[in-house]
Amino acid sequence: MAHPKILEVIEHDVCTACGACVSTCPAGAIVMNKRAEVRDPDNLEFYVQGAAPNVCEGCLTCGRLCPVIDGYAEDEFANVKEFFGAKSTIQGQDGGVTSILAKALLETGTVDCIVGITKDDKWGTELIVMTKPEDVDRTTGTKYTYDSVLSALKEPFEKYDKIGVIGVPCQAHGARLIVENASDKIVVILGLLCMESFHHDVMTEKIVPEVMGLNLDDVVKMDFGKGKFWNYTKDGEAHSVKIPEVAHYARNPCHHCCDYTSVSADISLGSVGTPDGWNCVLIRTDVGKQMFELVKDKVELMEDPKPGMDLIQKLAKMKHDNNSGHYLEVCEKFTFDECGIH
Ligand SMILES: Cc1cc2nc3c(=O)[nH]c(=O)nc-3n(C[C@H](O)[C@H](O)[C@H](O)COP(=O)(O)OP(=O)(O)OC[C@H]3O[C@@H](n4cnc5c(N)ncnc54)[C@H](O)[C@@H]3O)c2cc1C
Ligand code: SF4
Ligand code: SF4
Ligand code: SF4
Repeated sequence: MAHPKILEVIEHDVCTACGACVSTCPAGAIVMNKRAEVRDPDNLEFYVQGAAPNVCEGCLTCGRLCPVIDGYAEDEFANVKEFFGAKSTIQGQDGGVTSILAKALLETGTVDCIVGITKDDKWGTELIVMTKPEDVDRTTGTKYTYDSVLSALKEPFEKYDKIGVIGVPCQAHGARLIVENASDKIVVILGLLCMESFHHDVMTEKIVPEVMGLNLDDVVKMDFGKGKFWNYTKDGEAHSVKIPEVAHYARNPCHHCCDYTSVSADISLGSVGTPDGWNCVLIRTDVGKQMFELVKDKVELMEDPKPGMDLIQKLAKMKHDNNSGHYLEVCEKFTFDECGIH
C-alpha cells in the first residue's frame, strides 16, 4: 500500500488543518475534530500507526491537495493583475468587501454556495455553508482562531455544482489544488491576507485574559494593525499590546508558512496598505476580475491607496524571512522532494 505523504506533514506538526484532504479523500480516512487544532486522537492514532490501509485506498489524492507538500511561491506578487483599495456599506472587519462580494455571488447565482467561517458568542469558530445572501451576515468580522474551512466542502461537493471558498492563504491554496487535481466545482476563491492564526484555547485562555487582561465576554472585535494586536470592548474602549507579545503564541504551522497574500486566490483581500475601514484588493485571475465586476458599482474605490503595495510587500517579505528557514528545515526531513519554495 502506498504511503500517503500527508502522514509526514501531520507527524512534523506542519499540517495547517486546511481540510483539503478531509473533504476529498474517497475513503473518508482522514478526520479532523471540530476545532481543527486538535485532531481526533482516536482517529489520528489509528491512521499514523499504520492501520490506515483498513480504510485508506492508497489513491494518493491527499498528497496532491496539500498546500504544505505543494510548497510556496518565491514571488507571491507575480500573478497580481490589479491592486486598489475598496470599501462597501457593509459593517465588516475592514471595508466589508469580502461580504459584499459573497452576497453578490449568491444573489446572481454565480455560485450555489460559499464555505466560510462564523463564530459563536465565545469566539468559537463554526464552519458555515452559505446558500443565501443573508447567510453572509453571520460571517462578518475576523476570527484570529483557525477552523478547517475546506473540510466543510464534503457535503457541497455532493449537492452543488458551483462552489465559492473564502479562506486564509493555506485554505485558498488547498482550494486551488482541489480545482487542479480533484474537482472543478470550486468556481471562485476569495483569499484573505494572513500573518498568523491561533488555537482557540490559546486565544481565549491565554492571550485575551492574561496578555490583554480582558474578559472575553466583553470583547466585540479583534484586529491586528499598526504593529499592535487590538481588542475592542463593549464599553467602546480600544486595548492593545505590541504584536511581538502575542505572535509567538501562533499555531506551529503558521511559523512555517510563506504565503501572506493568498497567492492562489482569484481575489485577495486584506486591510494593510489602505486607510482604516478600507480593504486592499488584489485581483489575480480573469475569474477574479470578472467576479469583482459584480460589485464595482456598489463599492467606493481608491485607485492608489497609501502606503499601498509597498507596505504589503514589506510584510510579505517579513513573513518569508521569518518562516522560510523553518519550512525548508522540515522539507529536509520529508522523504519526498516536491515541497519547497519554487
Ligand atoms: C487569521 C487571519 C489573519 C489575518 N491577518 C491579516 C493581516 O496580517 N493583514 C491584513 O491586511 N489582513 C489580514 N487578515 C484579513 C482581514 O482581517 C480581513 O479578513 C480582510 O481585510 C477582509 O475584511 P472585510 O471587511 O472584507 O471582511 P468581512 O466582510 O468582515 O468578511 C470576513 C470574512 O472573513 C472570513 N473569516 C473570518 N475569520 C476567518 C478565519 N479565521 N479563517 C477563515 N476565514 C475567516 C469570514 O468567512 C468572512 O467571509 C487576516 C484574516 C484572518 C482570518
Ligand atoms: S491516499 Fe487516498 S484513500 Fe488514502 S488517505 Fe489519502 S486520499 Fe484517502
Ligand atoms: S491537506 Fe491540509 S489538512 Fe490535509 S495534511 Fe495537508 S495541510 Fe493538513
Ligand atoms: S499563517 Fe499560513 S498556515 Fe497559518 S493560518 Fe495563515 S495562511 Fe494558514
